Amino acid sequence: MSQSLLYHAFGVREGYEYVRTEYRRGTVEFHLTVAPCLMVCPHCQGREIIRKGKRFRRIQTVPIGFKAVFLVPEAPRGQCRGCGQVFEVAPPLPRAMSTTRNG
Ligand SMILES: [Zn+2]
Repeated sequence: MSQSLLYHAFGVREGYEYVRTEYRRGTVEFHLTVAPCLMVCPHCQGREIIRKGKRFRRIQTVPIGFKAVFLVPEAPRGQCRGCGQVFEVAPPLPRAMSTTRNG
């Protein structure tokens, strides 16, 4: 799977990097990680960030044939070394496809 196909076919935006594909229970999952350049403190724009774990979102996107396809982007948490701010990095993905908004 190429980054450009994800970008053009599934709406994966700049800021995410493709990690791997997982096939489970008849579905296809594209796992994505946030580009390191986006780990920036929103408070002071500091770039010395301590990683504080992460969670994953799961967003249904357009199917491939009969298989349901999900994007699984990580949302890493970090703490700024400079100002102590704790924040989560979650670049936007296409809203129309999101299944997590009501949950
Ligand atoms: Zn900061």
